[in-house]
Amino acid sequence: MMKVILKTERAKGFTRGEKPIPRNLEANEVLIKVISVSICGTDLHIYNWDAWSQNRINPPLTVGHEFSGKVVKIGSNVSKVKIGDIVSSESHIICGKCEYCLTGNGHICEKTKVIGVDMDGAFAEYMKIPEENLYIDTSNLDPTYLSVLEPLGNAVHAVKHFDVKDKDVLIIGCGPIGLMGIDVAIASEAKRIFATEVNPYRINLAKEIGAHHVINPKEVNTLEYIKKHTNNKGVDVVIDFSGNVGAVEESFDYVKPGGGISILGAFNNKLNVDFNKVVFKGLHIYGVTGRLLPKTWQQIDELLKSKKLQFDKFVTHVFPFDEFEKGIKVMNEGKSGKVVLKLWKKIVLS
Ligand code: ZN
Repeated sequence: MMKVILKTERAKGFTRGEKPIPRNLEANEVLIKVISVSICGTDLHIYNWDAWSQNRINPPLTVGHEFSGKVVKIGSNVSKVKIGDIVSSESHIICGKCEYCLTGNGHICEKTKVIGVDMDGAFAEYMKIPEENLYIDTSNLDPTYLSVLEPLGNAVHAVKHFDVKDKDVLIIGCGPIGLMGIDVAIASEAKRIFATEVNPYRINLAKEIGAHHVINPKEVNTLEYIKKHTNNKGVDVVIDFSGNVGAVEESFDYVKPGGGISILGAFNNKLNVDFNKVVFKGLHIYGVTGRLLPKTWQQIDELLKSKKLQFDKFVTHVFPFDEFEKGIKVMNEGKSGKVVLKLWKKIVLS
């Protein structure tokens, strides 16, 4: 048997449980002994049992979708990974056959299944996953951090859609993925990074990671501030990680003509935007969902090998797996960057 973290009731909370270790692998599947997992905003929604999760989640379910681990068993047709490989994983299982998958757009596959949401997830001692989903780390990153490559991939996808090198960039929202977005923009050699955030803990983290201007919209008029510091022109690229309706509505004023707006945040309400701004400013708008497959993972690989990312800054808490409530608590209080849960006391890689 293996330890798992479950959603058992249609109510707030998670439960500790046990399930049989998966035994039977399909030909393309791999069994992973999980080293670390990280808590996503999605997991928090499911824990808190908000409106979204009430509509989407069918308990009982093993939760979690961000994980790292060691390959301990492989199916009969597996060729990409071998036993002993240290891996991280894409959380979207795609069909590989639909119109989108066949045209290199697997991130919008019409049959996407998300682990820990549509099927049992990774908050478990073992995880069964198709080999196509795996990323093999060869950069010697501490495996504790490898679980965060999946959300890092969201940040990479959002930041790198527009070429930010030598450009002025505005990051809206410095939650865990926004903080990674700042770090990715720095690693991508953005000229100046502006960031907006209201939470003092996260304002400090954004500064520590290296944002040049961190604006608190509760204290400062963001539009005036940006105009003042950009010769009245605005920034080249806006990247939204917040899903804040007002902030994204105003993005169409923050951005300079010909600029781009990349949006990862999901909205609870409709936006009221004058689309003549899009037309006459010649703007580009991009919606970010998941990670480009395989392009984003290749970009992650390049970033890891460059050693430019500051995992020790945007991962702020590491707790033992059994103490997951501590992680949920700091996240619910907004007093965290990324939170990781470790399943192994000591990581032996050989
Ligand atoms: Zn598909």
